[in-house]
Amino acid sequence: MKAKPQVIGLPAYKPGKPIEEVKRELRLEKVIKLASNENPFGASKKVAEAISQLANQTAVYPDGYAAELRNKVAQFVNVNPNQLVFGNGSDEVIQLLCRTFLTPDTNTVTADPTFSQYKLNAVIEGAEVREVPSKDGVHDLDAMLEAIDEKTRIVWVCNPNNPSGTYVNEEAFKSFLAKVPNDVLVVSDEAYFEYVTASDFPQTVPLLEQYNNLIILRTFSKAYGMAALRIGYGIANSEIISLVEPVRPPFNTTTFAHAAAIAALDDQQFIKECYEKNVEGIEQYVKFCKKYNLKYYPTQTNFLLIDFGIQGDEIFDFLLKKGYIIRSGNALGFPTCARITVGSQEENAGIIQELSAWLEERKVNSVG
Ligand SMILES: *Cc1c(COP(=O)(O)O)cnc(C)c1O
Repeated sequence: MKAKPQVIGLPAYKPGKPIEEVKRELRLEKVIKLASNENPFGASKKVAEAISQLANQTAVYPDGYAAELRNKVAQFVNVNPNQLVFGNGSDEVIQLLCRTFLTPDTNTVTADPTFSQYKLNAVIEGAEVREVPSKDGVHDLDAMLEAIDEKTRIVWVCNPNNPSGTYVNEEAFKSFLAKVPNDVLVVSDEAYFEYVTASDFPQTVPLLEQYNNLIILRTFSKAYGMAALRIGYGIANSEIISLVEPVRPPFNTTTFAHAAAIAALDDQQFIKECYEKNVEGIEQYVKFCKKYNLKYYPTQTNFLLIDFGIQGDEIFDFLLKKGYIIRSGNALGFPTCARITVGSQEENAGIIQELSAWLEERKVNSVG
């Protein structure tokens, strides 16, 4: 077989260990996964109701245009229905953008470290990836601007950024947009939008009136607690959408995801409660970090990147034995960090207790 050269040797996505496997291998009764920024409180009850009502609808193809959901989201974010594209998760929207805009003759600009899917999909299209080092976890927008040339087609702003949790504020984002050439697509990936607390976080939807080269990505996978249903979307001007739509597989999102997303949008009380519990959860971790003088990255998300000053893999292995699956910073571009998803109050307290005991013990040993 002769695959595209850029695909040969490309590692497949390594998912976190499944809970059941960890239980069996380590003989643990309870294992808690705080590794993928999923909602620890699940989803709105309305979501399960909506799906179960459709249980006998499996034989018929979904509405490929997602018309009902399209109208609902259009109303919710206050744009026209033709300004939306739906994907099998926002991961797929990222893929569609790369397929639409990138060729081996072009390049794309990302921050580093950032969400891995931008680079992966760009590499598959054969485009050059220009990774611009961040400053203390925050996108260096000036350096990203400098990396743009006449062959640049897409620039990615992950806001708030995964894995650092940090954000680009409204003023910085606006001045960036004003300087990016208007034939370069600016992606604002807002997967954690619902968790944002900062009052100066950019309001990007109104910016679409001024900028034809902007697309905003949102998802139902994180705060909405619907990662298993795979549904996310892009918001842009209709010209961008009409370029991407022919590239989209005709039935890429399901009947179940459509109905569930409509129901989920109707339960904003659930989102509000999750937001509030997340704020409290972050406070638990911040208190812990301050007590032990650990550097952490200020977060606008439902996860925290904490610097333990030793290999992230060591933290990962330690917590795994205690029944907690987190993400080591080693694979995320922050080798001395761990990325921990904010869980329920009890889950956070449990993890903090284990880490505290471990840090106390290390302190004693290093003194002794
Ligand atoms: C989780 C995540 C996504 C993808 O979510 P989907 O489940 O594919 O909708 C996209 N961008 C960032 C930054 C994420 O963290």
